[in-house]
Amino acid sequence: MPETHGRRRGALRTLLTGAGVDALLVTDLLNIRYLTGFTGSNAALLLHAEGDGKTLFCTDGRYTTQAAAEVPDLETVVDRASAAALVAKAGKTKTYGRVGFESQHVSVETYEALNAQLPLKRTPGLVERLREVKDEAEIEALRQACAAADRALDDLVAAGGLRPGRTELDIARDLENRMLEHGSAAPSFASIIAAGAHSAIPHHQPTHAELKRGDFVKMDFGATVDGYHSDMTRTFVLGEPADWQREVYELVHAAQAAGVAAVVPGAEVSDVDAAARGVIADAGHGEHFAHGLGHGVGLQIHEAPSFAATGVGTLAAGMAVTVEPGVYLAGRGGVRIEDTLVVRAGEPELLTLSTKNLVVV
Ligand code: ZN
Ligand code: ZN
Repeated sequence: MPETHGRRRGALRTLLTGAGVDALLVTDLLNIRYLTGFTGSNAALLLHAEGDGKTLFCTDGRYTTQAAAEVPDLETVVDRASAAALVAKAGKTKTYGRVGFESQHVSVETYEALNAQLPLKRTPGLVERLREVKDEAEIEALRQACAAADRALDDLVAAGGLRPGRTELDIARDLENRMLEHGSAAPSFASIIAAGAHSAIPHHQPTHAELKRGDFVKMDFGATVDGYHSDMTRTFVLGEPADWQREVYELVHAAQAAGVAAVVPGAEVSDVDAAARGVIADAGHGEHFAHGLGHGVGLQIHEAPSFAATGVGTLAAGMAVTVEPGVYLAGRGGVRIEDTLVVRAGEPELLTLSTKNLVVV
């Protein structure tokens, strides 16, 4: 999709003037992938404000064939020291003017070495700012990743995969294999499968603990398609739920719905957090929900924006975010319900479609 990448580079150029630079040295590999389509492990990009004609891409000799296929539209320099090679070129030719760099991604050592060749200006977060709002190609990849996770969960339940005697690790591997069958390249993060009292630990790592009748089983997992990550949590009950389990479940379900309803263009991220948190606090469980409400998803599993009480910023149409409230009762169990969705004018577009009604298996 060279047109897509060209369009993204064009959008980035509009931010360079505001940042006070004539060119930007991009060294973060995900940002390079976003701007060029290159998926190798060594590259740098020197993006000139005046257009692709003066923009240079650099990778090393292992990737010349791959770069020709993935980045056919930019002049490619082959050099193992990719960032240093582009900075050296910029320093020699003088046509690059003031050059900015991704200061949040560069070590002090690397910065000092590059800056000795050509004085660089700190311009953190420019590409990340663009990446917050997804284009339709990105949303389609997210849609497919979410669908792979939905189908894997469906298959797991249909195959009777959630039953007493299986371990948390069994469930994790089972879900991950089923996501691969449905088009996922890899799990989007280490799956969280937490049964019984473990479900009260928000980021529990799966163990050899066996599922038992009466357990909450909390499953937080995702797929990756074209580099884009899905993220979903569902919590089931094994056997007939106790009253306290129904109560906690319905509370989190209501809080999640309130959070999703608050996801509209122009909303303050802190207000989205408050919409869900308020429901849980009003029920007396405020202290049992000790993490942020959600986060952006895309080429990274956690990216901007972030829904937290102290968060700043507003939502815009095209952002992809999660809404994932939870209530965790130490020693007993916990519930989290999480969707990945896209901010749209009016109602958000839900990408994770598995039911959020209480499922008893
Ligand atoms: Zn998650
Ligand atoms: Zn998440």
